[in-house]
Amino acid sequence: MRHCCQFAPDDVYYLRDNDLFSFRKLSVGFCPVCLKPVAELIEWRFDGALNRVSVNGIEANDLVLKCKDEIVYSFRECNYSKFKSKPFGWVYGINKSVKSGKRRVTKQYACDFYGNKQLVKSF
Ligand SMILES: [Zn+2]
Repeated sequence: MRHCCQFAPDDVYYLRDNDLFSFRKLSVGFCPVCLKPVAELIEWRFDGALNRVSVNGIEANDLVLKCKDEIVYSFRECNYSKFKSKPFGWVYGINKSVKSGKRRVTKQYACDFYGNKQLVKSF
């Protein structure tokens, strides 16, 4: 994948086909130069055209969240141990708003696709 330079993805997710596209692949990684998260979606349209979406930063987070439910398996999944409890691989952010007495507290979690969740901060 590419941002400031060419680099290898941290993980590759294979997505299930949808109405328009098949052979869908989502690569995620961090640019080694500027350390921004980068996500790249490559998919083939039914008429043979290639669709490539490459985004970084907060948009990468959004793209991964959008594709999350379509992930069939990940390249690194086989190396994953179920006993790990910390977020693993690509980690995306979730903000949860909870009521605490009369205040609303926003809890920010780091999540991964394996159901692991870690509280980063609350404010
Ligand atoms: Zn970069």
